[in-house]
Amino acid sequence: MEEEKAYGAHVMVLPFHGQGHINPMLQFSKRLVSKGLKVTVTTTLSNTKTMQAGAGSISLEPIYDDCSEGGLGGPGGFKGFIERFEASGSRGLIELIEKLESSNYPVKCLVYDANLPWALDIAKRLGLPGAAFFTQSCAAIASYYSMHQEMLGESPREPAFPMPGLPPLGLPNLPSLGSASGQCPPIVRYILNQFSNIEKADWVLFNSFDKLEYEVVKWMGKLWPVKTIGPTVPSVYLDNRVEGDKGYGFSLYKPDSDACMKWLNTKETGSVVYVSFGSAASLNAEQMEEMAWALKQNNSNFLWVVKTSEKNNLPSKFLEEMSDKGLVVTWCPQLEVLAHHAVGCFITHCGWNSTVEALSFGVPMVGMPQFLDQMTNAHFVEKVCGVGVKPRVDEKGLASREEIDRCIKEVMQGEKGEEIKRNATMWKELAKEAVNEGGSSDKYIDEIIDRLMSA
Ligand code: UDP
Repeated sequence: MEEEKAYGAHVMVLPFHGQGHINPMLQFSKRLVSKGLKVTVTTTLSNTKTMQAGAGSISLEPIYDDCSEGGLGGPGGFKGFIERFEASGSRGLIELIEKLESSNYPVKCLVYDANLPWALDIAKRLGLPGAAFFTQSCAAIASYYSMHQEMLGESPREPAFPMPGLPPLGLPNLPSLGSASGQCPPIVRYILNQFSNIEKADWVLFNSFDKLEYEVVKWMGKLWPVKTIGPTVPSVYLDNRVEGDKGYGFSLYKPDSDACMKWLNTKETGSVVYVSFGSAASLNAEQMEEMAWALKQNNSNFLWVVKTSEKNNLPSKFLEEMSDKGLVVTWCPQLEVLAHHAVGCFITHCGWNSTVEALSFGVPMVGMPQFLDQMTNAHFVEKVCGVGVKPRVDEKGLASREEIDRCIKEVMQGEKGEEIKRNATMWKELAKEAVNEGGSSDKYIDEIIDRLMSA
């Protein structure tokens, strides 16, 4: 019989449901495994079923059967889903940790998505250390935290900005709360709820690195035991611009990998505009049309991720007309795409993962944020990191074709383009330095592991 591998300690990792949560937390789990730990990732049943194929040495265990209850599309929409996840997931998590108590490797620590604060209460009840994992930037979380503190006050008012550690953020660059109604919609309660018990966390982890958010990390470090452990991009990608599947996170959607990579291989270095708005944001019909004609007007090669739900918003004949210039897919292997030498510009919604991934590969960005923390991330991309620009928008939030075309040219051509490329190369090197052996993020991960091993 094959002998069971000896592990340093067993860590349970609980990500929230969506793609932007799964990728960084699974990648962090792989890092722990590479350093000799046993990791069990626990999530919804639908996620564990999809992820089974790519989990490798990570164990997967469901704690909530979302399939039988309709998932996010079940009764009560998003609010209903998070309530059911909490109620059933709490029971499932306790049962799972208790079941593993009698195994060779009882759980020694719970790393939970900060969006699921109830998990920390469970860890504490069971006598385990708990690490909150924020999948958004330190800057966005610092802004949300400030709003949370103001809301706790007796007479809530606008948060006091500028905040320590943050560059001046005008109102449009603050993380939005998803609604202009003035009420507290479920998404806001859910975001601000992340701070409800954060003071009990043994570590507060960010998919960021010290040099990227130096001041705000320092400021937050006075509040909580902050550890920046990112970028959670496989280090092999940071050393070479390689092709082929390097198993990043786990894609919940099926990427059109062959088509994308074959097509990119035929293109010259730095010539392709890659366009994607991530898993949750979509462009409305008017913005889709402006984007389409901007790409035509710009005349660069483009790879555009248009989700199935958005396909109808593409102008008729666009695909036919542009077939020699562009490739449109419903999902792509984004890491491989950003790592490809042909990609010279990324038009992005500035989801934090996309932002960190582009920074890690030195790809200049055109930031078109849609909501929540994307507003702050886009501001950082342009004003703090100097690796991109943001199109001006009209009063309806629409960026015109001329404006998008101007921004693509600005990041790909001329003196400004050269400056952006220089900055992008610098951030790529700093990202690599942070995760490579002995770098700041690597050292923080080792510190956590040392404490778990000696417990
Ligand atoms: N992604 C991908 N293929 C795509 C689009 C996105 O693999 O066609 C991945 C991307 O690499 C990132 C995640 O999906 O890791 C999206 O996360 P992000 O925080 O950028 O945006 P969200 O989807 O959460 O809005």
